[in-house]
Amino acid sequence: MKNPLPHQRCPLCGAANQCAPASAGHFDVECWCTQATVSPQALQRLPADQVDRACLCPRCAAGVEDRG
Ligand SMILES: [Zn+2]
Repeated sequence: MKNPLPHQRCPLCGAANQCAPASAGHFDVECWCTQATVSPQALQRLPADQVDRACLCPRCAAGVEDRG
């Protein structure tokens, strides 16, 4: 199993992703992101090497565009 990237900020918008695996260094922890459905649009904006490893923030995972 891959380890999560230790990034605690969303790779798309830079906001805190509130990701427990990113903080813990492994996926064996409870996190909002394990139950959230990440929007396909958000995944497409993510570099391929970060898919399934870097945690988005809840807003980007939900597919809300951040134009700011
Ligand atoms: Zn974000």
